Parts: sequence; structure tokens; C-alpha cells
Amino acid sequence: MNKSIKLGHYFLKSVLFGTKFPMALSVDVTNKCNLRCKHCYFFQQNHKNELSEEDLLKKVKEIKKKYPSIIHASWVGGEPLLRKNVVKEGMKLFPFNMVVTNGSLELPRWKSCVFNVSVDGTKEYYEEVRGLKIYDKVKEHANRDDIHVNIACVLNKKNYYCIEDLLKEWKKTKIRGINFDFYTPIRGIDDNLWLNWQERDMIIEKLIKLKKIYGNFILNSKSILKLMKSDSSKKITSNCVVKKAAVCLDPMGNRKLPCVIGDKADCSKCGCIVPFQIESLMVKKQIESFYVTKKLFT
Ligand code: SF4
Ligand code: SF4
Repeated sequence: MNKSIKLGHYFLKSVLFGTKFPMALSVDVTNKCNLRCKHCYFFQQNHKNELSEEDLLKKVKEIKKKYPSIIHASWVGGEPLLRKNVVKEGMKLFPFNMVVTNGSLELPRWKSCVFNVSVDGTKEYYEEVRGLKIYDKVKEHANRDDIHVNIACVLNKKNYYCIEDLLKEWKKTKIRGINFDFYTPIRGIDDNLWLNWQERDMIIEKLIKLKKIYGNFILNSKSILKLMKSDSSKKITSNCVVKKAAVCLDPMGNRKLPCVIGDKADCSKCGCIVPFQIESLMVKKQIESFYVTKKLFT
């Protein structure tokens, strides 16, 4: 059984059979990034200071001690690979790890984690948004089969036209697949990137169709995509389980609420895949339990 399946099973048991939350940690490893993307939620929230590497690691160890139920850590930023030592040491504390990186730096040969490289569109869109000609370099860094690399694409008003070209291009590389989220707006910032519900529904239908060609290379399952649609999304995010399931630390080691996006996240329009992943596991388990119960009593 691979690690992500094991993690999924653990999530299921945790959610349904009362294993204690929180079970995930997200750490803003640094407040620095070598890029300045226009849509970046991180720099929109003004993280001026950061703990020293030693103090941040100390904080992570304290959290692990306080919440032994945490089994998964996401190392985010800023750009977490600017502080490789923190990530390398911190990862030893958890069985499952994910490094969320912009891919502009060479990826270390760490086999015990998944690298989620942010690529929000094909070369033209990507370089326009970042204002840097680095797409080919990122692709070269991500195109590895000695480590586990996924691409993370956050869909917004300006990049959704890229979906098919992105899939076509990256399918020829060694990455494992592409994960699609939708852009979550930050309250008070009018950047016009949020896809309205009608647009989101239309894109989801398209992704479901594309799964017939690309299968699991599109990492979002069909059931998760359906939950992200307008008719079910708000119900899930209005009482988002992520608030209980994850501890998120800012670069000063302070807890960020309600989630990694920070206190200005507009939950009513959330497009982050995580709450839907958890909901999807719960629904599956409810169906399984129904059939087991039926079998027992008929
Ligand atoms: S690479 Fe990530 S952290 Fe850096 S500016 Fe872009 S979105 Fe923000
Ligand atoms: S922004 Fe999304 S993931 Fe974060 S707490 Fe709100 S609904 Fe949950």
C-alpha cells in the first residue's frame, strides 16, 4: 500500500472512529520567497518576521509533543526550500510529509516526502504572472522520477483556459499527476481572480470529462470534483473540518486560523481541495457502513 493510500485510510479512521484531531500540521517555514506572484495569498497577509531556524524547529517539536495525533506535515512558505535544514529535520518527526514549493530551486533527493510544485498554467501564463522567465527551469526541476513530484495548479479567472494544454504537456514528463484547486479569495482584496459558481461548475464538468483521457493523472477524484460544485461546496466549507483537523503555523510559529490561508480567507468561496477530500472520505465510509449494516440485519 502506498503512503497516500495509507494516509487516506488513517484519515478515514480518524474522522469516523474518533481518533483525535488534529492530525495534520502546516508550517510556514519562512516568510521569504525568491518569487513574487501576483496572486500570492501569503504576501497579501504581511508576514514581516520569522523565527530563527532553531526556534521554529523547537516550536514544531512542541506541537508534535502536544498533539501526538499529528501524522502529516506540510512544509510551506514563502519558499520552504530556502530553509532546507528546517524541512529536513522537521520531516523526521512525521510519517507523511509534503513540501509545497515553487520549483525554482533544485529539489533535494528526499524520498520520504511528496513535492507539490506550483505550476498554475502553461509557460505563457506562468511567466506573465510571475514576471520571470523561469518556466523551463521549474519544469526541468520537477521532471524527476527518483522522487515523488506532483504539480499543483490553482485555477482562477485568468488561467483556466490552460487546463488541457497543461495536462497534455506535463503528461509527457515524469511527474505523478496534477492536482487542481480553485482560487480562494482573500477578504478585502479585489483581485478579480475568483471563478464564479457557474464557471467553477463548468470547469469541473470539463475536468470530469478529461479524466476519461487522463485518468488518475488528474489527481482529484471524480467524487471530490463533484463535491466542489456549487450545490455542495458551501455546505462543506461553512463548517470546515480543516479548522479542527490541522494546526497551521505562521513564520513566527503562531497558530494561523482558520487554516493555512489565514484569517482573511473567504471560506464561503473556498476552492482548496482539502475540505472536499475529507468530506469525500466520510461519504464513502457512510456508504460502506450502510451496506455492512444492511448485510448484518437482512
Ligand atoms: S512562489 Fe508561492 S510563496 Fe512565492 S510568491 Fe509565488 S505564490 Fe507566493
Ligand atoms: S479557507 Fe477553505 S480550507 Fe480554509 S478554513 Fe476556510 S473553508 Fe476551510
